[in-house]
Amino acid sequence: MSIDPILEKVGPAECLAVLAEEASELAQAALKMRRTIESVKDRNPTTTSSLEALCNLVEEIADVQNAWMVLFSPSLGDVVKEVNATIEMKYDRWAKRIGLELKEEEEEE
Ligand SMILES: [Mg+2]
Repeated sequence: MSIDPILEKVGPAECLAVLAEEASELAQAALKMRRTIESVKDRNPTTTSSLEALCNLVEEIADVQNAWMVLFSPSLGDVVKEVNATIEMKYDRWAKRIGLELKEEEEEE
């Protein structure tokens, strides 16, 4: 995989800064969306609608993904494999932590 033109122009330090900034915005968007959920909004209301909050959350997820994909563009394929493996491991760990028993996927015939 070749280096992304944005990474080439701004460099890895600035791409890391963008990733951190977008990750912070993602955290804020998740917290804002939490305040639109019924059980929370009575105690801590917001003027943001659920739809606005959802749209903002999706935008920030995209911003974070864009930032790390540009940052790791020189070896994107390897990083994507590592991220996917980590996602699977972390999902299983989270499910186990809250007492869920995961079913094995049925093998295809
Ligand atoms: Mg953003």
